[in-house]
Amino acid sequence: MILIDGKKTAAEIRAELKERAAAFEARGGGKIGLAVVCIGDDPASKVYIRNKVKACEEVGISSLVYALPEETAQAEAETLLASLAENAAVHGILLQLPLPAHLDTERLLAKIPAKKDVDGFSAQNIGEIALHRNGTAACTPRGVMELLRRYHVEICGKHAVVVGRSNIVGRPMALLLLNADATVTVCHSRTQGLKEICAGADILVAAAGRPKLITADMVKEGAVVIDVGMNRDANGKLCGDVDFEAVKEKASMITPVPGGVGPMTVAMLLSNTIDAAERSLK
Ligand code: NDP
Repeated sequence: MILIDGKKTAAEIRAELKERAAAFEARGGGKIGLAVVCIGDDPASKVYIRNKVKACEEVGISSLVYALPEETAQAEAETLLASLAENAAVHGILLQLPLPAHLDTERLLAKIPAKKDVDGFSAQNIGEIALHRNGTAACTPRGVMELLRRYHVEICGKHAVVVGRSNIVGRPMALLLLNADATVTVCHSRTQGLKEICAGADILVAAAGRPKLITADMVKEGAVVIDVGMNRDANGKLCGDVDFEAVKEKASMITPVPGGVGPMTVAMLLSNTIDAAERSLK
């Protein structure tokens, strides 16, 4: 069994991105800028933002954090996003979710132009991916594809099963696997026969947000198992969607939690930002 090391792979990617950011500056593009807009006091969001800012520093992207208070009005947030959309020094804009309940998330996301949508959440970018054209893919699914590529996992013709159909993970994940010529099955909370479907997977991606949903009897001998889940178990410990200890005995490759997909998500955010900056020069 091969343990897919997302932490190490993400560090390698950040080193590559550092070179790309330096080359961008050397070509006269200036410093690459990522604007991070955070509204309210969600503690998890604060941790994510700290990680993103740190990763930006490491690769030489300047991060501009806009931390707005919980009571920020819709119009005020829209004005900020509109001004960042116009700002040539800002190549990527990230609106940290979830937002306070009084704000209209869809309307705010729509203020981010597709070319600066480095999270890949916009309808235009999702549409481009659905049409198998160039678009910015959401960071987590893109990170999974990058892990599969760097670990030389054959995708073409394989049966890939994605558990979860959210707009930010499961759905784009399925599209990317389909674009890579996998035969894709998408499962969700209404799926009947989840166990049998998963047991037929050559590549199994778990993104349901349910601790230990994927047990060893749901995994084919030799399958590649990617665990996107980030959950807290009864003791408050971070865990994935896969029963790692039992499943690792059957999988040919498996990602751990933590240290699997998580670090790749941030690396892909940086990559999407550098892609956006490079496109802006063309
Ligand atoms: P959502 O809650 O938005 O979506 C979960 C999906 O899983 C839904 O489509 C849901 O089905 C499906 N689902 C839930 N329970 C079951 C079940 N028992 N059987 C089959 N399908 C089920 O979550 P996200 O997509 O945002 O995130 C999924 C997980 O990935 C979470 O643990 C999250 O923390 C983690 N995550 C990790 C990231 C990383 O960087 N590693 C980044 C983003 C998320 P239905 O549509 O029918 O409700």
